[in-house]
Amino acid sequence: MKTFRTLALLALAAAALPASAALKVLACEPEWAALAMELGGPLVDASSATSALQDPHQVQAKPSLIARARNADLVVCTGAELEVGWLPVLLQQSGNAKVQAGQPGHFAAADFVTRLEIPASVDRSQGDVHASGNPHIQTDPRNIAKVAKALALRLAQVDPAHAADYQARGADFDRRWQQATERWTAAAAPLKGLPVASQHKAFVYLYDWLGLKEVAVLEPKPGVEPSAAYLQSVLTGLKAAPAKMVIHAAYQDPRPSHWLSEKAGIPAVKLPFTVGGDDAAKTLFGLFDETLARLLAAAKAK
Ligand SMILES: [Zn+2]
Repeated sequence: MKTFRTLALLALAAAALPASAALKVLACEPEWAALAMELGGPLVDASSATSALQDPHQVQAKPSLIARARNADLVVCTGAELEVGWLPVLLQQSGNAKVQAGQPGHFAAADFVTRLEIPASVDRSQGDVHASGNPHIQTDPRNIAKVAKALALRLAQVDPAHAADYQARGADFDRRWQQATERWTAAAAPLKGLPVASQHKAFVYLYDWLGLKEVAVLEPKPGVEPSAAYLQSVLTGLKAAPAKMVIHAAYQDPRPSHWLSEKAGIPAVKLPFTVGGDDAAKTLFGLFDETLARLLAAAKAK
């Protein structure tokens, strides 16, 4: 009898928990965890499945990560097949009905922006990891603004008791983000039209925003490491159409970029790519401050 009463009390306590505890948000990438924190503040307990130093295309669904997915109220990912190699397994293993695709607890950021580089036809056998268009949408702050609006609404939907808070925080973030975006856009004016080489097609949205021209890519296909012969052919191609710098993301092995930098005599630029990709990129605002500082410094280098 006593045991039964204890169990009943425990059940009551468990049922009462969601009303007072913070909403558990599991983001697939650091930028979405940072955005959830901006929009939710103390109302959310957000963490990322991956760090800025991991390739988001290639992640292991470890037991510790499965446990986090099991307890999540909301999963916030990029979508556009960025996580196709690991998220479906993770969600299936989690056994958490709330966060399965199609549920309110499953948010895919790429659904709310205009995707670039959607291929007319795809041959996955060649190892292309961008089969659903380019998934690296977080490199354009205008995309972050669109995702923020949609995510604020989603937070209100899954946590209706705090809907007004999410709306207010969302409006405040939008105001600060628009101001920052104007500042970044103005500061980046000298970069317009600058020809650049990229190691991975990780920054097409950034280039689209700032008017940078991607004249060469070191990977023969997204996600496929370049061979020595392929790098040589890129170098040869750059003689006709020179690049001013070669850009790679913090999570990547920099050797292909460093090789090209040395051979072509242009700076190699490491960009944080997401929140945490550099000590100076600890927030979404810091991410773009640092990205622009590095591009502008490299553009000035002779
Ligand atoms: Zn990619």
